[in-house]
Amino acid sequence: MSVLEKLNAEGIIALENKYGAHNYHPLPVVLNRGEGVYVWDVDGKKYYDFLSAYSAVNQGHCHPKIVGAMMKQAQTLTLTSRAFFNDQLGPYEEFVTKYFGFDKVLPMNTGAEAVETALKLCRKWAYEVKGVAEHEAQIIVCDGNFHGRTTTIISFSNDENARKNFGPYTEGFIKIAYDDLEALETVLKSSKNIAGFLVEPIQGEAGVYTPTDEYMMRAKELCNQYNVLFIADEIQTGIARTGSLLAVCGNCSCEKQCERQETYATPDILILGKALSGGAYPVSAVLANDAIMNVIKPGQHGSTFGGNPIAAAVAIAALEVVNEEHLIQNARVLGKLFRSKLNEYIHTSNIAVLVRGRGLLNAIVINDTEESDTAWNICMALRDNGLLAKPTHGNIIRFAPPLVMNEAQLLDCVAIIIKTLKQFEK
Ligand SMILES: *Cc1c(COP(=O)(O)O)cnc(C)c1O
Repeated sequence: MSVLEKLNAEGIIALENKYGAHNYHPLPVVLNRGEGVYVWDVDGKKYYDFLSAYSAVNQGHCHPKIVGAMMKQAQTLTLTSRAFFNDQLGPYEEFVTKYFGFDKVLPMNTGAEAVETALKLCRKWAYEVKGVAEHEAQIIVCDGNFHGRTTTIISFSNDENARKNFGPYTEGFIKIAYDDLEALETVLKSSKNIAGFLVEPIQGEAGVYTPTDEYMMRAKELCNQYNVLFIADEIQTGIARTGSLLAVCGNCSCEKQCERQETYATPDILILGKALSGGAYPVSAVLANDAIMNVIKPGQHGSTFGGNPIAAAVAIAALEVVNEEHLIQNARVLGKLFRSKLNEYIHTSNIAVLVRGRGLLNAIVINDTEESDTAWNICMALRDNGLLAKPTHGNIIRFAPPLVMNEAQLLDCVAIIIKTLKQFEK
Protein backbone atom coordinates (compact mmCIF):
# COMPACT_ATOMS: atom_id res chain seq x y z
CA MET A 1 0.00 0.00 0.00
CA SER A 2 1.33 3.41 -0.85
CA VAL A 3 1.87 5.87 1.95
CA LEU A 4 -0.38 8.35 0.19
CA GLU A 5 -3.33 6.01 -0.04
CA LYS A 6 -5.83 6.93 2.65
CA LEU A 7 -7.49 3.98 4.37
CA ASN A 8 -11.24 3.95 4.84
CA ALA A 9 -12.94 2.67 8.00
CA GLU A 10 -13.24 -0.86 6.67
CA GLY A 11 -9.57 -0.94 5.73
CA ILE A 12 -8.49 0.21 9.18
CA ILE A 13 -10.71 -2.35 10.91
CA ALA A 14 -9.27 -5.04 8.63
CA LEU A 15 -5.74 -4.08 9.75
CA GLU A 16 -6.68 -4.50 13.40
CA ASN A 17 -8.28 -7.84 12.65
CA LYS A 18 -5.24 -9.07 10.80
CA TYR A 19 -2.39 -7.68 12.88
CA GLY A 20 -3.86 -7.10 16.34
CA ALA A 21 -4.70 -9.68 18.99
CA HIS A 22 -8.45 -10.15 19.14
CA ASN A 23 -8.77 -9.23 22.81
CA TYR A 24 -11.58 -6.68 22.32
CA HIS A 25 -14.85 -6.55 20.43
CA PRO A 26 -15.15 -2.87 19.46
CA LEU A 27 -18.22 -1.23 18.04
CA PRO A 28 -17.46 -0.75 14.34
CA VAL A 29 -16.70 2.96 14.26
CA VAL A 30 -13.23 4.36 13.54
CA LEU A 31 -12.52 7.63 15.31
CA ASN A 32 -9.82 10.08 14.41
CA ARG A 33 -10.63 13.25 16.36
CA GLY A 34 -12.16 14.35 19.64
CA GLU A 35 -13.08 17.66 21.24
CA GLY A 36 -15.05 18.09 24.46
CA VAL A 37 -18.12 15.83 24.37
CA TYR A 38 -17.72 15.04 20.67
CA VAL A 39 -15.71 12.58 18.58
CA TRP A 40 -15.51 12.31 14.79
CA ASP A 41 -15.03 9.24 12.61
CA VAL A 42 -12.75 8.97 9.59
CA ASP A 43 -15.63 9.93 7.31
CA GLY A 44 -16.17 13.16 9.23
CA LYS A 45 -19.35 12.04 11.00
CA LYS A 46 -19.75 13.62 14.44
CA TYR A 47 -20.90 11.71 17.54
CA TYR A 48 -21.62 12.36 21.18
CA ASP A 49 -19.21 10.20 23.19
CA PHE A 50 -21.38 8.51 25.79
CA LEU A 51 -18.67 6.23 27.17
CA SER A 52 -15.76 8.62 27.78
CA ALA A 53 -13.26 5.76 27.50
CA TYR A 54 -14.84 4.12 30.54
CA SER A 55 -14.82 7.41 32.48
CA ALA A 56 -11.21 8.34 31.67
CA VAL A 57 -12.26 11.35 29.62
CA ASN A 58 -14.35 13.06 32.33
CA GLN A 59 -12.78 16.43 31.44
CA GLY A 60 -13.70 16.05 27.75
CA HIS A 61 -11.61 15.10 24.74
CA CYS A 62 -8.36 16.97 24.15
CA HIS A 63 -8.95 19.47 26.94
CA PRO A 64 -6.68 22.41 26.02
CA LYS A 65 -5.36 22.89 29.55
CA ILE A 66 -4.48 19.21 29.96
CA VAL A 67 -3.01 18.87 26.47
CA GLY A 68 -1.11 22.12 27.03
CA ALA A 69 0.45 20.81 30.24
CA MET A 70 1.37 17.57 28.48
CA MET A 71 2.95 19.32 25.47
CA LYS A 72 4.95 21.68 27.64
CA GLN A 73 6.31 18.88 29.80
CA ALA A 74 6.91 16.60 26.80
CA GLN A 75 9.22 19.23 25.34
CA THR A 76 11.10 19.66 28.61
CA LEU A 77 11.62 16.33 30.36
CA THR A 78 9.68 13.10 29.82
CA LEU A 79 11.25 10.39 31.93
CA THR A 80 14.00 10.11 34.50
CA SER A 81 12.83 6.91 36.20
CA ARG A 82 12.77 7.05 39.96
CA ALA A 83 16.51 6.47 40.05
CA PHE A 84 16.73 10.27 40.18
CA PHE A 85 14.41 13.01 41.36
CA ASN A 86 12.51 15.11 38.86
CA ASP A 87 11.13 18.59 39.52
CA GLN A 88 7.50 17.64 38.75
CA LEU A 89 6.83 14.66 41.02
CA GLY A 90 7.19 16.29 44.45
CA PRO A 91 4.84 19.19 43.65
CA TYR A 92 2.32 16.73 42.15
CA GLU A 93 2.51 14.49 45.23
CA GLU A 94 1.78 17.47 47.47
CA PHE A 95 -1.06 18.56 45.20
CA VAL A 96 -2.77 15.18 44.85
CA THR A 97 -2.52 14.21 48.53
CA LYS A 98 -4.00 17.54 49.64
CA TYR A 99 -6.68 17.30 46.95
CA PHE A 100 -7.92 13.94 48.24
CA GLY A 101 -6.94 14.33 51.90
CA PHE A 102 -4.28 11.67 52.42
CA ASP A 103 -0.71 11.77 53.77
CA LYS A 104 0.96 10.00 50.86
CA VAL A 105 0.59 8.81 47.29
CA LEU A 106 2.25 5.97 45.39
CA PRO A 107 2.20 6.84 41.69
CA MET A 108 1.63 4.19 39.02
CA ASN A 109 0.37 4.18 35.41
CA THR A 110 -2.61 1.94 34.74
CA GLY A 111 -5.58 1.09 36.90
CA ALA A 112 -4.69 -2.57 37.23
CA GLU A 113 -1.20 -1.64 38.45
CA ALA A 114 -2.70 0.61 41.07
CA VAL A 115 -5.03 -2.17 42.26
CA GLU A 116 -2.05 -4.55 42.43
CA THR A 117 -0.17 -1.91 44.41
CA ALA A 118 -3.07 -1.53 46.85
CA LEU A 119 -3.27 -5.31 47.35
CA LYS A 120 0.47 -5.54 48.03
CA LEU A 121 0.33 -2.58 50.39
CA CYS A 122 -2.61 -4.11 52.24
CA ARG A 123 -0.89 -7.47 52.67
CA LYS A 124 2.34 -5.88 53.87
CA TRP A 125 0.41 -3.78 56.38
CA ALA A 126 -1.34 -6.93 57.62
CA TYR A 127 1.97 -8.69 58.28
CA GLU A 128 3.94 -5.78 59.64
CA VAL A 129 1.33 -3.74 61.50
CA LYS A 130 -1.71 -5.91 62.20
CA GLY A 131 0.43 -8.96 62.97
CA VAL A 132 -1.09 -11.56 60.64
CA ALA A 133 1.11 -14.68 60.31
CA GLU A 134 3.18 -14.83 57.11
CA HIS A 135 1.29 -15.99 53.98
CA GLU A 136 -2.02 -16.09 55.88
CA ALA A 137 -3.50 -12.72 54.90
CA GLN A 138 -6.93 -12.74 53.24
CA ILE A 139 -8.54 -9.89 51.33
CA ILE A 140 -12.31 -9.72 50.92
CA VAL A 141 -13.66 -8.89 47.44
CA CYS A 142 -17.18 -8.71 45.95
CA ASP A 143 -19.11 -10.83 43.49
CA GLY A 144 -19.28 -9.15 40.10
CA ASN A 145 -16.14 -7.10 40.73
CA PHE A 146 -13.99 -5.58 38.03
CA HIS A 147 -10.52 -4.44 39.11
CA GLY A 148 -8.42 -5.01 35.99
CA ARG A 149 -6.66 -7.78 34.10
CA THR A 150 -3.50 -8.93 35.86
CA THR A 151 -3.14 -12.57 36.93
CA THR A 152 -3.81 -11.77 40.59
CA ILE A 153 -6.82 -9.59 39.85
CA ILE A 154 -8.51 -12.05 37.51
CA SER A 155 -7.92 -14.72 40.15
CA PHE A 156 -10.86 -13.27 42.08
CA SER A 157 -13.07 -12.31 39.13
CA ASN A 158 -16.45 -14.00 38.52
CA ASP A 159 -16.14 -13.40 34.81
CA GLU A 160 -15.34 -16.79 33.29
CA ASN A 161 -14.14 -15.10 30.11
CA ALA A 162 -11.59 -13.08 32.08
CA ARG A 163 -10.45 -16.11 34.14
CA LYS A 164 -10.66 -19.32 32.18
CA ASN A 165 -7.32 -20.95 31.31
CA PHE A 166 -5.29 -18.18 32.90
CA GLY A 167 -4.60 -20.19 36.06
CA PRO A 168 -3.03 -21.15 38.39
CA TYR A 169 -4.64 -18.36 40.34
CA THR A 170 -3.41 -16.20 43.20
CA GLU A 171 -4.68 -17.28 46.61
CA GLY A 172 -5.78 -15.18 49.53
CA PHE A 173 -9.13 -13.74 48.45
CA ILE A 174 -12.60 -14.32 49.85
CA LYS A 175 -15.57 -13.37 47.70
CA ILE A 176 -18.84 -12.12 49.18
CA ALA A 177 -22.07 -10.69 47.74
CA TYR A 178 -21.98 -7.00 46.84
CA ASP A 179 -24.05 -4.57 48.91
CA ASP A 180 -24.42 -7.19 51.65
CA LEU A 181 -23.22 -5.96 55.06
CA GLU A 182 -24.17 -9.19 56.80
CA ALA A 183 -21.99 -11.21 54.46
CA LEU A 184 -19.16 -8.78 55.14
CA GLU A 185 -19.50 -9.02 58.90
CA THR A 186 -19.74 -12.82 58.80
CA VAL A 187 -16.36 -13.04 57.07
CA LEU A 188 -14.79 -10.33 59.23
CA LYS A 189 -15.85 -12.25 62.33
CA SER A 190 -14.63 -15.58 61.02
CA SER A 191 -10.90 -14.94 60.98
CA LYS A 192 -8.11 -12.88 62.45
CA ASN A 193 -6.30 -12.99 59.11
CA ILE A 194 -8.48 -10.56 57.18
CA ALA A 195 -6.26 -7.75 55.89
CA GLY A 196 -8.60 -5.71 53.72
CA PHE A 197 -11.89 -5.26 51.92
CA LEU A 198 -11.55 -4.22 48.27
CA VAL A 199 -14.70 -2.69 46.82
CA GLU A 200 -16.05 -0.53 43.98
CA PRO A 201 -18.45 2.13 45.35
CA ILE A 202 -20.58 1.45 42.26
CA GLN A 203 -19.88 -1.65 40.17
CA GLY A 204 -19.36 -0.10 36.73
CA GLU A 205 -18.42 -3.07 34.54
CA ALA A 206 -20.97 -5.31 36.21
CA GLY A 207 -23.65 -2.95 34.87
CA VAL A 208 -23.54 0.15 37.08
CA TYR A 209 -24.81 -1.68 40.16
CA THR A 210 -25.49 1.09 42.62
CA PRO A 211 -25.54 -0.05 46.24
CA THR A 212 -27.78 1.28 49.01
CA ASP A 213 -26.80 4.71 50.29
CA GLU A 214 -25.24 3.60 53.58
CA TYR A 215 -23.35 0.60 52.22
CA MET A 216 -19.97 2.32 51.94
CA MET A 217 -20.24 4.03 55.31
CA ARG A 218 -21.36 0.91 57.18
CA ALA A 219 -18.78 -1.27 55.42
CA LYS A 220 -16.09 1.18 56.52
CA GLU A 221 -17.39 1.08 60.12
CA LEU A 222 -17.22 -2.73 60.07
CA CYS A 223 -13.69 -2.61 58.70
CA ASN A 224 -12.67 -0.22 61.48
CA GLN A 225 -14.25 -2.47 64.06
CA TYR A 226 -12.25 -5.49 62.88
CA ASN A 227 -9.02 -3.61 62.10
CA VAL A 228 -9.27 -4.33 58.38
CA LEU A 229 -8.31 -1.88 55.63
CA PHE A 230 -11.16 -0.47 53.57
CA ILE A 231 -9.85 -0.22 50.00
CA ALA A 232 -11.96 1.79 47.53
CA ASP A 233 -11.38 1.20 43.83
CA GLU A 234 -12.53 4.59 42.48
CA ILE A 235 -10.82 4.18 39.11
CA GLN A 236 -14.15 4.45 37.30
CA THR A 237 -16.37 6.14 39.90
CA GLY A 238 -13.95 8.75 41.24
CA ILE A 239 -13.02 12.27 40.14
CA ALA A 240 -16.49 13.83 39.84
CA ARG A 241 -18.08 11.07 37.74
CA THR A 242 -20.89 10.28 40.19
CA GLY A 243 -21.59 13.86 41.24
CA SER A 244 -19.18 13.88 44.16
CA LEU A 245 -15.41 13.97 44.13
CA LEU A 246 -15.38 10.33 45.18
CA ALA A 247 -18.33 7.96 45.04
CA VAL A 248 -17.64 6.68 48.56
CA CYS A 249 -19.45 9.86 49.55
CA GLY A 250 -22.58 7.85 48.99
CA ASN A 251 -25.63 9.94 48.40
CA CYS A 252 -24.21 13.06 49.93
CA SER A 253 -25.82 16.23 48.70
CA CYS A 254 -23.21 18.79 49.61
CA GLU A 255 -23.08 21.56 47.07
CA LYS A 256 -19.34 21.88 46.78
CA GLN A 257 -16.67 19.25 46.89
CA CYS A 258 -17.52 16.50 49.29
CA GLU A 259 -16.27 17.20 52.73
CA ARG A 260 -17.09 15.00 55.67
CA GLN A 261 -20.77 14.35 55.13
CA GLU A 262 -22.97 11.99 57.09
CA THR A 263 -22.51 9.10 54.71
CA TYR A 264 -18.91 9.81 53.84
CA ALA A 265 -16.57 6.88 54.23
CA THR A 266 -12.89 7.75 54.07
CA PRO A 267 -11.11 4.80 52.53
CA ASP A 268 -7.92 3.56 54.18
CA ILE A 269 -6.55 3.01 50.70
CA LEU A 270 -7.89 4.94 47.71
CA ILE A 271 -7.21 3.75 44.16
CA LEU A 272 -7.46 6.21 41.27
CA GLY A 273 -6.77 6.00 37.54
CA LYS A 274 -8.61 6.84 34.32
CA ALA A 275 -9.78 10.49 34.76
CA LEU A 276 -6.73 11.29 36.89
CA SER A 277 -5.22 12.31 33.55
CA GLY A 278 -8.44 13.25 31.76
CA GLY A 279 -7.64 10.44 29.35
CA ALA A 280 -4.54 12.15 28.01
CA TYR A 281 -1.96 9.78 29.46
CA PRO A 282 -1.90 6.66 31.65
CA VAL A 283 -1.78 7.93 35.24
CA SER A 284 -2.91 6.00 38.31
CA ALA A 285 -2.36 6.45 42.01
CA VAL A 286 -2.71 4.75 45.37
CA LEU A 287 -3.32 7.06 48.31
CA ALA A 288 -3.08 6.21 52.02
CA ASN A 289 -2.00 7.71 55.30
CA ASP A 290 1.48 7.26 56.78
CA ALA A 291 0.53 4.43 59.16
CA ILE A 292 -0.18 2.32 56.08
CA MET A 293 2.01 3.73 53.31
CA ASN A 294 5.16 3.73 55.44
CA VAL A 295 5.33 -0.08 55.34
CA ILE A 296 6.69 0.28 51.77
CA LYS A 297 10.47 0.80 51.84
CA PRO A 298 12.95 1.50 49.03
CA GLY A 299 13.27 -1.35 46.57
CA GLN A 300 10.05 -3.08 47.62
CA HIS A 301 7.74 -1.80 44.87
CA GLY A 302 7.98 0.45 41.83
CA SER A 303 7.49 1.24 38.17
CA THR A 304 9.80 2.77 35.57
CA PHE A 305 7.11 5.15 34.32
CA GLY A 306 5.22 5.64 37.60
CA GLY A 307 5.46 9.27 38.69
CA ASN A 308 7.11 10.42 35.48
CA PRO A 309 7.22 14.17 34.82
CA ILE A 310 4.57 14.13 32.07
CA ALA A 311 2.17 12.14 34.24
CA ALA A 312 2.71 14.54 37.15
CA ALA A 313 2.10 17.66 35.06
CA VAL A 314 -0.92 16.14 33.30
CA ALA A 315 -2.58 14.95 36.53
CA ILE A 316 -2.33 18.37 38.19
CA ALA A 317 -3.93 20.00 35.14
CA ALA A 318 -6.65 17.32 34.98
CA LEU A 319 -7.59 17.78 38.64
CA GLU A 320 -7.56 21.56 38.33
CA VAL A 321 -10.03 21.32 35.45
CA VAL A 322 -12.41 19.36 37.71
CA ASN A 323 -12.56 22.35 40.09
CA GLU A 324 -12.37 25.16 37.55
CA GLU A 325 -15.22 23.78 35.46
CA HIS A 326 -17.37 22.62 38.40
CA LEU A 327 -17.56 19.08 37.07
CA ILE A 328 -18.83 17.65 40.37
CA GLN A 329 -21.89 19.88 40.40
CA ASN A 330 -22.43 19.45 36.67
CA ALA A 331 -22.36 15.66 36.92
CA ARG A 332 -24.82 15.75 39.80
CA VAL A 333 -27.29 18.13 38.16
CA LEU A 334 -27.16 16.60 34.69
CA GLY A 335 -27.28 13.08 36.14
CA LYS A 336 -30.56 13.83 37.89
CA LEU A 337 -31.97 15.35 34.72
CA PHE A 338 -30.84 12.36 32.66
CA ARG A 339 -32.46 9.81 34.95
CA SER A 340 -35.68 11.78 35.30
CA LYS A 341 -36.05 12.22 31.52
CA LEU A 342 -35.32 8.55 30.87
CA ASN A 343 -37.66 7.46 33.65
CA GLU A 344 -40.50 9.44 32.03
CA TYR A 345 -39.91 7.46 28.85
CA ILE A 346 -39.32 4.08 30.55
CA HIS A 347 -42.76 4.39 32.14
CA THR A 348 -44.28 3.96 28.71
CA SER A 349 -41.64 1.69 27.17
CA ASN A 350 -41.59 -2.07 26.73
CA ILE A 351 -37.93 -2.16 25.66
CA ALA A 352 -36.22 -0.26 28.50
CA VAL A 353 -36.86 -1.62 31.99
CA LEU A 354 -35.02 0.81 34.23
CA VAL A 355 -32.28 3.39 34.49
CA ARG A 356 -29.90 3.41 37.45
CA GLY A 357 -26.76 5.20 38.51
CA ARG A 358 -25.42 8.25 40.23
CA GLY A 359 -24.24 11.49 38.70
CA LEU A 360 -23.26 10.81 35.10
CA LEU A 361 -22.49 7.12 35.59
CA ASN A 362 -25.72 5.45 34.54
CA ALA A 363 -27.03 2.37 32.81
CA ILE A 364 -30.29 1.28 31.29
CA VAL A 365 -31.49 -2.28 31.53
CA ILE A 366 -33.08 -3.65 28.38
CA ASN A 367 -36.06 -5.97 28.36
CA ASP A 368 -34.14 -9.03 27.16
CA THR A 369 -31.75 -11.69 28.48
CA GLU A 370 -28.09 -11.19 29.44
CA GLU A 371 -27.11 -13.45 26.53
CA SER A 372 -29.15 -11.57 23.93
CA ASP A 373 -27.59 -9.19 21.42
CA THR A 374 -30.30 -6.56 21.88
CA ALA A 375 -28.10 -4.11 23.79
CA TRP A 376 -25.44 -4.45 21.09
CA ASN A 377 -28.00 -3.83 18.35
CA ILE A 378 -29.27 -0.77 20.20
CA CYS A 379 -25.70 0.55 20.46
CA MET A 380 -25.30 0.07 16.70
CA ALA A 381 -28.48 2.08 16.13
CA LEU A 382 -27.31 4.74 18.61
CA ARG A 383 -24.12 4.98 16.57
CA ASP A 384 -26.13 5.50 13.39
CA ASN A 385 -28.08 8.20 15.24
CA GLY A 386 -24.88 9.97 16.35
CA LEU A 387 -24.21 8.71 19.89
CA LEU A 388 -21.58 6.18 20.99
CA ALA A 389 -22.19 3.82 23.91
CA LYS A 390 -21.29 0.22 24.68
CA PRO A 391 -23.15 -2.66 26.34
CA THR A 392 -21.72 -4.08 29.57
CA HIS A 393 -23.91 -7.18 29.12
CA GLY A 394 -26.42 -8.42 26.53
CA ASN A 395 -29.12 -6.37 28.21
CA ILE A 396 -27.31 -3.46 29.91
CA ILE A 397 -25.97 -0.27 28.30
CA ARG A 398 -23.70 2.06 30.26
CA PHE A 399 -24.10 5.80 29.72
CA ALA A 400 -21.13 7.89 30.84
CA PRO A 401 -20.62 11.09 28.81
CA PRO A 402 -17.78 13.54 29.49
CA LEU A 403 -18.66 15.73 32.47
CA VAL A 404 -18.08 18.94 30.49
CA MET A 405 -21.44 18.41 28.79
CA ASN A 406 -24.01 21.20 29.04
CA GLU A 407 -27.75 20.89 29.57
CA ALA A 408 -28.72 21.50 25.93
CA GLN A 409 -26.30 18.79 24.79
CA LEU A 410 -27.60 16.39 27.41
CA LEU A 411 -31.21 16.93 26.32
CA ASP A 412 -30.12 16.39 22.72
CA CYS A 413 -28.56 13.07 23.78
CA VAL A 414 -31.68 12.05 25.71
CA ALA A 415 -33.71 12.69 22.55
CA ILE A 416 -31.33 10.50 20.51
CA ILE A 417 -31.46 7.70 23.08
CA ILE A 418 -35.27 7.74 23.32
CA LYS A 419 -35.69 7.94 19.55
CA THR A 420 -33.36 4.95 19.17
CA LEU A 421 -35.00 2.87 21.89
CA LYS A 422 -38.38 3.50 20.23
CA GLN A 423 -37.04 1.78 17.11
CA PHE A 424 -36.77 -1.38 19.27
CA GLU A 425 -40.20 -1.27 20.91
CA LYS A 426 -41.99 -4.56 20.46
C1 LIG B 1 -10.83 0.41 34.33
C2 LIG B 1 -10.85 -0.12 35.71
C3 LIG B 1 -9.73 -0.79 36.25
C4 LIG B 1 -8.52 -1.13 35.43
O1 LIG B 1 -7.89 -0.02 34.91
P1 LIG B 1 -6.85 -0.22 33.66
O2 LIG B 1 -6.28 1.14 33.48
O3 LIG B 1 -7.68 -0.68 32.50
O4 LIG B 1 -5.87 -1.24 34.08
C5 LIG B 1 -9.81 -1.21 37.57
N1 LIG B 1 -10.89 -0.96 38.33
C6 LIG B 1 -11.99 -0.34 37.84
C7 LIG B 1 -13.15 -0.10 38.73
C8 LIG B 1 -12.01 0.09 36.52
O5 LIG B 1 -13.09 0.69 36.03
